[in-house]
Amino acid sequence: MRKFTSEIGEEDFGKKVTLYGWVHEVRDLGGLVFVILRDREGFAQITLPKKKVKQEVFEKAKNVRRESVVKVVGEVKEEKRAPNGFEIIPEEFEVLNEADAPLPLDVTEKVPAELDTRLDHRFLDLRKHRIFAIFKVRSEILNATREFFHERGFIEVNTPKIVSTATEGGTELFPITYFEREAFLNQSPQLYKQTLMAAGFDRVFEIGPIFRAEEHNTVRHLNEATSIDIEVSFTDHNGVMKYLEELIVYIHERIVENCEKYLRWINVEVEVPEKPFERITYDEALEIVSKKEEIPWGEDFSTPALKILAEYMQGYYFITDWPTESKPFYAMPYEDRKEICKSFDLMKGWLELASGAQRIHKYDLLVERIKAQGLDPDSFGFYLEAFRYGMPPHAGWGLGVERLLMAMLDLKNIREAVLFPRDRQRLVP
Ligand code: ATP
Ligand code: MN
Repeated sequence: MRKFTSEIGEEDFGKKVTLYGWVHEVRDLGGLVFVILRDREGFAQITLPKKKVKQEVFEKAKNVRRESVVKVVGEVKEEKRAPNGFEIIPEEFEVLNEADAPLPLDVTEKVPAELDTRLDHRFLDLRKHRIFAIFKVRSEILNATREFFHERGFIEVNTPKIVSTATEGGTELFPITYFEREAFLNQSPQLYKQTLMAAGFDRVFEIGPIFRAEEHNTVRHLNEATSIDIEVSFTDHNGVMKYLEELIVYIHERIVENCEKYLRWINVEVEVPEKPFERITYDEALEIVSKKEEIPWGEDFSTPALKILAEYMQGYYFITDWPTESKPFYAMPYEDRKEICKSFDLMKGWLELASGAQRIHKYDLLVERIKAQGLDPDSFGFYLEAFRYGMPPHAGWGLGVERLLMAMLDLKNIREAVLFPRDRQRLVP
């Protein structure tokens, strides 16, 4: 099998190898030329002493443009001063595809670039190891999540992303043309995953896109994000909070175990958090916030309010027992205190990572709550029917993949956590 530069080791010293990659740098010292070849996993130093390599090889390497794609065949020699402790003296140096010059973005980062410029030329930006590493971690998170839920008897599902009604009403919807009708891109799999509880699936998870027509540009909102969603029957909010906490710990363990090199590239330290995460109620959070800012009971916390809260709360924590009016219609109110509901947000510092709740499973109460939130029960036809013929009690949550990456890797802007972000201005690339 083809080897990455990082896979070349002592066992290859004295042997001939073939490497494919991009020209990271060319250093021309006259009688000696160095080409630094880069691939996804690392670098290799190609050393060309004029007197020791074929003239044709020497000329090609000396004149190759940065970021061209090359194939190099040569002997591996130990060289302590080179990256990974080896160099290659090439007998073959083939330019598979020459890059144009000048480059729209400097992959070596000697010339710094703004985020917008980076995103405009994202394929070049992603060649940087420290940027690529974010997506290695992301891939590991998704893999760990699938393993976690499969091990616990969950069924992975895929629900439609083209839908006829809003999940929760509201304005954050993208309308689309569906033949002669209007349709929408789904904001969340909520209604479908709940419907699957009525179908008897018992435990489901979905990893999929969610679409939100957020008008505002913030560092934590995207218009297309990826959500990890679960729904579980015969349990309550406490039951699914446990799954969430365990998943977060499991993901951290896996990242620490498998992504050491990539965390080094990103230059971040990841620690496995301890269970159980701290839990505070909405009322307690409000009391902390109100030391510095006035928030009327019942309202969601603003970003400045969450930043105040974050001064007091370290690591991952839950805010529980939210005002019923501040949460979607499907959240289950407490029997003895109907103004609050069995809901929770998972936070890290000021950042919300997930929201969940025990859901209402009784038809009449659900219709009442839909109306109370100013929505029309008639537009929830298929969903409401599922509650009339045997809907079990259930609970669930949705966790934003990009938010989790932001929290774990200390990214300052959520756009860093997606390959090709969609925001208020950006639809390309
Ligand atoms: P926020 O208050 O931060 O805007 P939200 O409460 O509107 O989020 P939910 O509807 O609770 O979001 O969605 C569940 C999770 O999905 C959120 O906790 C978050 O991790 C993620 N998420 C929701 N909207 C976005 C978005 N626009 N961009 C990125 N992630 C999002
Ligand atoms: Mn939320």
